[in-house]
Amino acid sequence: PADWLPDVAAERTRREAAVAGAAERYYEIPPDIERGWRELLIDTTGRCYLDMVNNVAGIGHGHPAMAAAVNQQLLTLNTNSRFLYASLADYVERLRALAPDPSLSVVMLVNSGSEAVDLALKLARAHTGRQDVLALREAYHGWTGFTDAVSTSAYDNPYAAASRPAWVHVADAPNTYRGAHRDTDSRDPGAKYVADAVRLLDDLDAQGRPVGAFLAEPVFGNGGGVLLPDGYLEGVYAAVRARGGVCISDEVQVGLGRLGHYTWGVEQQRVVPDIIAVAKALGNGYPLGAVYTTQAIADSLVREGMFFSSAGGGTASAVAGLAVLDVMRDEALQANAAAVGDLLSAGFADLAKRHKLIGKVHGMGLYQGVELVRDRATKQPAPEETDWICERLLDYGVIMQATSERRNVLKIKPPLTLTPAHARVFLDALDAVLGELEARA
Ligand code: PMP
Repeated sequence: PADWLPDVAAERTRREAAVAGAAERYYEIPPDIERGWRELLIDTTGRCYLDMVNNVAGIGHGHPAMAAAVNQQLLTLNTNSRFLYASLADYVERLRALAPDPSLSVVMLVNSGSEAVDLALKLARAHTGRQDVLALREAYHGWTGFTDAVSTSAYDNPYAAASRPAWVHVADAPNTYRGAHRDTDSRDPGAKYVADAVRLLDDLDAQGRPVGAFLAEPVFGNGGGVLLPDGYLEGVYAAVRARGGVCISDEVQVGLGRLGHYTWGVEQQRVVPDIIAVAKALGNGYPLGAVYTTQAIADSLVREGMFFSSAGGGTASAVAGLAVLDVMRDEALQANAAAVGDLLSAGFADLAKRHKLIGKVHGMGLYQGVELVRDRATKQPAPEETDWICERLLDYGVIMQATSERRNVLKIKPPLTLTPAHARVFLDALDAVLGELEARA
């Protein structure tokens, strides 16, 4: 490189020495990103990329209103929730107003998605006095002790099954594209998956260890944004509640408007959970997570002792969260996710007519997955092709990554600010790259 260019190889070596060996790594040569603006990322050479994967930066990168609000608060006071200050109550009231149901009237603030799901599991244990949890296969819920135990994704942790504690039970992921029950084989695959889960619950009853909590994402994130079949959560929630268990929705990825047509994933499934865990977009990169629950469940935890998080709900965190909610409302970002998401769905449907590699498009709004297969009949995954497409899209200035245990789904989770013009840029780049791949075959 010319000597005025940054030495990317040296920067990469420095980073690899600084992060733990098990940290996830993307790209042969990752771009050296220096700044962000809305759905764009700019590297140290001034090159601009379209960020199609960042589901943390919901309101976009570098939002000046959020930066100004947090900056002002940091200059004034940043302390924990031990004291009285208006922003904490303001923030909790605003979050409460967004709850999918008035029964979820208690909001507890933490610092991340892992902590939110961890607290959700702790609340469930306190309320039911039971340990046993039913989780779904191929899911990721966090890295803490509790959340790692219920994370079943073999991609994130290849040893998960071997090290799984006895209190974790796993039901099949209700994937109607490539799971045990498919929408091509059955008119109501959801009912079949519900019946499988009920069999597991019956087994637990027979063993004298009835379920305490059922934990699931409302859209199957690791599968590539796969929507759950109609009636799935309704059926499993009813069976869990009939046995005295509680239902937890992990909305760390989809909560707060990413689906566009719904604020919460559970609304798409027409259910109300007992506990919701949310994070990522809540703080737009500022460490922030929240748990919604009912008064009765929150009271059960109080009976066990105190809940306290030093920075969770601290002054600057509450201000950061309020700024995010203001921007979401003022810039109508959920409506944008619906409109631009529909535009992407139509664009993918059009690409699928011309490119056989596209087996299925999952999800909705700005939470979609383009699943790539070598053969539409056998659904043989195309991980090498997916990898090549992600690398090649970088040359076109698009940040794209693969997901699912089969590494064959392009994950579409851009900031909710994505404009129709930038959606078009992405669709055109994907069209070109798929064409190049076909020309090589
Ligand atoms: N739940 C889900 C569904 C997630 O996707 C993640 C993060 N990928 C988590 C929980 C954990 O969140 P965090 O990384 O903020 O701890």
